[in-house]
Amino acid sequence: MKHFKWFNSKTAIIIAGILLSGYLILILTVTNLGQSRLKESQNSALNLRVSNYVENLSFFFDASEKNIANLSEKRDVNTYFSNLAAGMSMQYGLSSSLFSLSRTIEQFTQSNKMDSQFIYSRVTIVGLGGTVIADSESESEFDISKLPFKLMEQVSHKVHLVDTADGLQILLLQTIYHQNKPVAILVASLNTELIIGMLSTQEHADSGSCLTLVSPAGNVLVWNSLTDCGTNIQQQGSKYSANSPGIIYFNKDVKSTPFILESWFEPVSEEDIFTSGWFIAAISLLALPVFLGLIYLMRVNNTNLVLQTQVELSSEQQQKLAKQNTLLHEEISKRKNSESKLAYQASHDELTNLANRNYGMTSLERAICTAHARKTQILLLFIDLDNFKQINDTIGHHAGDELLKQTSARLLQSVRSTDTVARLGGDEFLVIVPDIKHQDAAKLVASSILSIFEKPFHIEQQEFFVSTSIGMSTYPKDGNTAATLLKRADTALYRVKDMGRNGFSFYDASMNLDVQRNLMLNMRLHQAIQQGDIEIYYQPILDLSTRKIVAAEALMRWNDSELGFVSPEDFIPLAEKNGLIHKLGGMVLSEACSKAAGWQAICPITIAINFSSVQFRYCEQLQAKIVDVLQETGLPANKLDMEVTESLLIDQGHSLMKMLSYLKQLGVGLSIDDFGTGYSALSYLQKFPFTKLKIDRAFINKMTTSSSDESLVSAILAMAKSLKLAVVAEGIEDEQQANFLQQHNCEYGQGYLFSRPIPAAEFTQLLLDEQSKLSANVQQQV
Ligand code: C2E
Ligand code: MG
Ligand code: MG
Repeated sequence: MKHFKWFNSKTAIIIAGILLSGYLILILTVTNLGQSRLKESQNSALNLRVSNYVENLSFFFDASEKNIANLSEKRDVNTYFSNLAAGMSMQYGLSSSLFSLSRTIEQFTQSNKMDSQFIYSRVTIVGLGGTVIADSESESEFDISKLPFKLMEQVSHKVHLVDTADGLQILLLQTIYHQNKPVAILVASLNTELIIGMLSTQEHADSGSCLTLVSPAGNVLVWNSLTDCGTNIQQQGSKYSANSPGIIYFNKDVKSTPFILESWFEPVSEEDIFTSGWFIAAISLLALPVFLGLIYLMRVNNTNLVLQTQVELSSEQQQKLAKQNTLLHEEISKRKNSESKLAYQASHDELTNLANRNYGMTSLERAICTAHARKTQILLLFIDLDNFKQINDTIGHHAGDELLKQTSARLLQSVRSTDTVARLGGDEFLVIVPDIKHQDAAKLVASSILSIFEKPFHIEQQEFFVSTSIGMSTYPKDGNTAATLLKRADTALYRVKDMGRNGFSFYDASMNLDVQRNLMLNMRLHQAIQQGDIEIYYQPILDLSTRKIVAAEALMRWNDSELGFVSPEDFIPLAEKNGLIHKLGGMVLSEACSKAAGWQAICPITIAINFSSVQFRYCEQLQAKIVDVLQETGLPANKLDMEVTESLLIDQGHSLMKMLSYLKQLGVGLSIDDFGTGYSALSYLQKFPFTKLKIDRAFINKMTTSSSDESLVSAILAMAKSLKLAVVAEGIEDEQQANFLQQHNCEYGQGYLFSRPIPAAEFTQLLLDEQSKLSANVQQQV
């Protein structure tokens, strides 16, 4: 069908219309031609008919003339005129001649018939004088006066039309001669009816025609069947003329007579010959249904084409749709996948694939509902990796992530399938243990979780030991909402952290008091700073070999009127959290440097000031502050020691290194405080410009009782030596410790053995006392 696309219904209808128009034109042409041919043949047929009439009439007249001529030469006629010329009187024989003559013409009239009709209605012999000599009809007198001419003036024509009292009569005139002299005229009246009959033999009442024999003397209506012609053609003469439209007209002379035969014929009716306009219109109308049928067929065909096209299109569309459908299905399944992925992502932690905080909390809520219905208990474990931040910062985030993944895997392995493990964020995990029977069972769960951290983690070909702290709460004892249970487990966790980490703790109500105390602390710390309630105590650092004070460590002291003595280990982490550490640190720096500057006059001691790693977040400001303080107080830079913990170095950045290098150039000392409690990575000991290392008091404390701590201290001392670092031992409480350290070449010591941290005034006094002792000793030696 594609090849015939141009052949649509419109084209077909146009072609059909052209063909039909051609057909109608052809019919009209053929019909017109036929009609004109028909008219021509009708004309020639009528012409022939009229010619026949004229010839017949002419022949008839000719024959009649001859007949009359014969009559005029008859013996009886001659006899009479001979007798008359001889002067014979009527009484003497002329009357018998006249009788014979009369009988002759009478016989002549009676004997000449045609088609049973008399040819001559009357034959009369008229003398030249105008008297009737003999007459075939005796009843009426022949009216000679009606003759149109004088008898002697006969014209060439022998036939005449004469208007007589009896009407128009056709007369044949024949001169009778005697001895070559005209003696009389024979007048024969022709039977007009016969002539009319002769001239109208082919006429028919149904076909319109009109024939008139015309002569100067008058006209004889031969035939009239023209409907609107009337009976008297003479009266209607004006109506029909030679040029009357739509009428066929002929006029033919009747030879040797004064007559002309005029004829009018109605042409053949178009209606009759089935070629009329109406007929054609009717035929055309017949064609109309054909045409309409054609149009209908074309439309049907066109509709079929359209339908077929539509079917083709729809099958194409179906294929397209099927394709689109497949694509759509693929898209839907993709979307479903991505939706389920999104839903999964929304409820799961991307790194560990554990339930996330939200989902964990939802699970906890669900577990609470179930436990409520079944009247069972739930154990909630809040797990936090110890020092994760430091690990993460030391080994890098990628390895930190790996540690979290491995932790998750271990957690999942250690719990039951009915338990839920979720990652709350960072290094915090949640384990929901539904249906826990008693506290011992809870302890078992916690212990088993702690035990999974006993084995080292292998990350990037390195071994790591990570401990964890677990805070626990139980439903319904510690709360009946997910949020409360979580908060209480968190409180318990902080207790574990406070207690030195790597353990677990159940929540108890007293913990809340701690929280409240923390809140109180926070509030009071603000006030204490404002009111100048924070004091600075100084603890001397001695040269272990000489036992002379070489330095002092500045330590904050806060004795609150309501809370009592608050340890710096309690309020410094708080100040680090609320940002007050910057203010506190600045205050300690100014005051301690100022005091130390003053003490230089007594003894050139160094002042050791603790710096929180939080203070180094704004290195440039801190550096500027130190430089300012040194300038303001006049303390030589080399008399300032900055004590920092390992955690600072873990957070190290380019600006920290720059600052420390700058301060070292100035002569400021840098001590690593609490060495041994953190990660004690040797790499950063080499990397940073440390001058001193302070061994944490925890090792010193147990050193003399624990051989492992002893060997650890020995190892630290050996390492410090190799790194060319001076060592300060913290927390020396007895002579044994001091001696041990001294024997192991530990240069400096600090501890209650020598002095507790004391106020500045006391420390001044201590220095003065020492100086005076020294000077006394010198004097003694001198
Ligand atoms: P630290 O820097 O290690 O200070 C030494 C701590 O050991 C001090 O505790 C001191 O009183 C204590 N100590 C010294 N000798 C002995 C001893 O023989 N036996 C015992 N048991 N303890 C001894 P303190 O004053 O409670 O300070 C605790 C920590 O608070 C400090 O540890 C330091 O990290 C921090 N800290 C104190 N003052 C400041 C400060 O002004 N700034 C900053 N950032 N931290 C400070
Ligand atoms: Mg210190
Ligand atoms: Mg310390």
